[in-house]
Amino acid sequence: MRITILSGGVGGARFIRGVREACRRSLAGTSPKDEITAIVNVSDDMWLTGLRIAPDLDSIMYTLAGESDEERGWGRVGDTSRVSSELRANGVGWPWFTLGDLDIGTHLSRTELLRQGLTLTEVTAKLTSRWPLGVTLLPASDDETETHVRTDNGAIMHFQEWWTRHRARLPVAEFIYSKVEQARPTPNVLEAIRSSSLVLFAPSNPIVSIGPILALPGIADAISETRAPVVGVSPIISGSVVRGMADACLSAVGVATAADAVALRYGSRSGGGLLDAWLIDESDAALAPDIERAGIRAAAVPLWMRDLDTSSALASAAISVGLNS
Ligand code: GDP
Ligand code: CA
Repeated sequence: MRITILSGGVGGARFIRGVREACRRSLAGTSPKDEITAIVNVSDDMWLTGLRIAPDLDSIMYTLAGESDEERGWGRVGDTSRVSSELRANGVGWPWFTLGDLDIGTHLSRTELLRQGLTLTEVTAKLTSRWPLGVTLLPASDDETETHVRTDNGAIMHFQEWWTRHRARLPVAEFIYSKVEQARPTPNVLEAIRSSSLVLFAPSNPIVSIGPILALPGIADAISETRAPVVGVSPIISGSVVRGMADACLSAVGVATAADAVALRYGSRSGGGLLDAWLIDESDAALAPDIERAGIRAAAVPLWMRDLDTSSALASAAISVGLNS
């Protein structure tokens, strides 16, 4: 079975790890290998201190490699920040944005390979080949697009500055997917969607993780046309975002922080939107009729990814809902 997952960074990474685990457990060495592909948001990427940083690709790569700092929530486990201290002392870069030393090794490698002329897709294949990830990571695009935030007072900044420096507290007038009209999804991405047996939306941030992927010309069409069932997982449980500040992104675009509101924003494939089915938490079961009325099959299952077992159970549920759609 070929499973294709649309994903942002940390939340998406936990889900992808669950999908990999669910496939490993269900196969137990008997059937042919499942093929798992993640289409990863690149609109959080940026140039900083001369380096190309790709936070979502790296969060997934480190998580699948068992190298992520789970406690802190970003970067490599056991990392130090000597280079960042030196940059700060020199007044270079963003003083509020610490890059770990090992992490800088990744960014230096990526930058060097890009400068040699490799595409981001090729660079990602090379960087991930070091670990047996069991998942192919595809950047949604090889072109540079960035999510920017226009605040209520007219300032425009990279999403990362609004999120990390201002802790998502500055009121937002608009999220801008900068240069997205000129950007293209890669052929590998379109092919992964078209040839998939199942497409999953990770419970990633709908506005700044999944949104920029869907905004790339051709992606939404490929999803609405694929023969594969499309199943999404709610990032919202009982009206809250579980981890992080995604509620600030939703309210900025007038979407309620609720599992049904996010599903309705994606819309049903039968009604010209993107989803066949939507997984909500058991605590939100009362929202199911609302979602089903919109033409999206709703299934209530435990959505908290506390550890590998709960993530794998969630992934199994998404796969079986998809295969029965
Ligand atoms: P980012 O790019 O690092 O911000 O990560 P993503 O966009 O991939 O994921 C962030 C989202 O994951 C958050 O907005 C949360 O709502 C969601 N999330 C985090 N942990 C869980 C969980 O255990 N269950 C579910 N259903 N959603 C989660
Ligand atoms: Ca992200």
